Amino acid sequence: MRYRKIIYLGVIILLIIVCILNAVNFISSRKSLSVNFLDVGQGDAILISQGDRQILIDGGPSGTKLMEKLGKYIPFWDRKIEIIIETHPDQDHIAGLVDALQNYQIGEVIQSRAENDTEVYKKLKDIIAAKNIPALNAEAGMEIKLADNIPLKIISAETGTPKDTNPASVVAKLTYGQNSFLFTGDLPSENEKNLADIQADILKVSHHGSKYATSTEFLNAVKPKDAVISVGKNNKYGHPAPEILERLSQAKINIWRTDEMGDIEYKCQNPEIDCILIAD
Ligand SMILES: [Zn+2]
Repeated sequence: MRYRKIIYLGVIILLIIVCILNAVNFISSRKSLSVNFLDVGQGDAILISQGDRQILIDGGPSGTKLMEKLGKYIPFWDRKIEIIIETHPDQDHIAGLVDALQNYQIGEVIQSRAENDTEVYKKLKDIIAAKNIPALNAEAGMEIKLADNIPLKIISAETGTPKDTNPASVVAKLTYGQNSFLFTGDLPSENEKNLADIQADILKVSHHGSKYATSTEFLNAVKPKDAVISVGKNNKYGHPAPEILERLSQAKINIWRTDEMGDIEYKCQNPEIDCILIAD
């Protein structure tokens, strides 16, 4: 009888410990910031989250792929994405967003000022209108907040032309204490010259590592320690360009590629401590 009581007591204590550990884990994960470069093949999709708040920058080329990734990183009970940023209206950045808009409640869309006449772009616009999702044009200087201490500043948002929307790419910088990230869309070299306040620890390499972006001058201004290239395996464009890989290596910048590593996630536990890289 006494023996049984000890076992019961042991089980209860164990359950209490498990509950406390879970609570600690939940509270710390609510506070920590995650910046996740999702492996969506040849395209861009970046999920920034803290607790149950998310900013999604682009959605990659496939809705199925994006839904699989969002399902993995957003808790199943959280059906809302607070902000979606569309950097520019190219298929490899917006096709997946169509599914995100259909399957999640969206707080707001910050859209590129560039327009396109493709089917997928029209579909995106139609869903935003049909679901009455607040949509704002990106403007340089605009500041979006994931939390009070996590600002995302829009550095550039031009209009581009329907034939070439890359120069219109929304460029944004996320700051979390001593950590900073620069997101560049597919911005070409000519437009890199116009950017200011771009120093950042982690650079999302523009245009999947194309040779028409990421100039030496630009790298000297950003001075990143890490470069993340979002790119598909054996893509038909030959991205990333060997000269860009060489340029990054010469500058002693760490290169992380989604085609080699899968999802590339930075976990930031504390604004005063460097974010930690976690590969898939
Ligand atoms: Zn692209």
